[in-house]
Amino acid sequence: MSRTVLVILNQPSLDTPAHHSGASEYALVDPAVPHLNVLDLAATRGDGIFESLSITAGRPHAIDAHLRRFAASARKLDLPAPDLNAWRDAIHAVVAELDPVAEAVVKIVMSRGVEGDVKPTGWAYAWPSPDYRAAREDGISVITLDRGYRHDIEQTAPWLLTGAKTLSYAINRAVLREAAKRGADDVIFVSSDGFILEGPTSSVLFRRANAILTPGTGLGILEGTTQGDLFAWARTRGMETGFELLTPAQLAESDAIWLVSSGRQAAPVREIDGVPHTIDRELSAAMNAFLLDRTR
Ligand code: PLP
Repeated sequence: MSRTVLVILNQPSLDTPAHHSGASEYALVDPAVPHLNVLDLAATRGDGIFESLSITAGRPHAIDAHLRRFAASARKLDLPAPDLNAWRDAIHAVVAELDPVAEAVVKIVMSRGVEGDVKPTGWAYAWPSPDYRAAREDGISVITLDRGYRHDIEQTAPWLLTGAKTLSYAINRAVLREAAKRGADDVIFVSSDGFILEGPTSSVLFRRANAILTPGTGLGILEGTTQGDLFAWARTRGMETGFELLTPAQLAESDAIWLVSSGRQAAPVREIDGVPHTIDRELSAAMNAFLLDRTR
């Protein structure tokens, strides 16, 4: 029941030749044996992009938004444009092959390919999700950590690729180890000039009275698909939504805080930098019920 399902795409981009001419769109392969060339730029330089989608009862969530962001990341890295129809088929293929589980994750990866070659490498795989109930219901403790660059980095230094979902996630993993050393579950990045940005794998949402807010786009952070869907949902409930650049002190004064992402969905923050924070259990439960129930 805990099987991982993997497919390899034959032609991840229509801008470049297929790996095997005349072969089918993707091949279902055994994830337990090696498939990646050791000279692939994914392995040697972390040079590529990815997306992670959540699945409930066989339904991928926000597939269009994820594919849009995948294409936007490719543009930022000057990669060949992903063939979104082929990627969509690959996502549905791994989901169809997965054992029936309540929740799963699909990850899609496109690298620049083997060094010296012109063909991107692409694969998609799915696996059952861990149990996120405790984080969704009882909340998580977070620490704020300096990200080391200003909030306007995307405009001043676009070559740093902030705002693209690249394979270079070693830092995003390192900060979680730092959080664990300090007894916390997760991290909120703060810009060097003192503004709240995002988590290493999540967007920051906060509530002030009847408004659900997030720091914004164009701050060198990812445009969250979960945040996007939650904003649309909140508006149907008569709530206001919006973007607001804010400091950690201002965030601490908000009525409730969440880290939201595909997979874990909405995790309320119960402690920030060692200070307890109120969690809005009712709204958290409603958010997660909506997110897990998405049919697209
Ligand atoms: N920010 C970062 C850095 C992420 O890695 C992620 C997701 O992995 C998010 C935000 C949230 O994005 P989404 O809601 O589309 O999963």
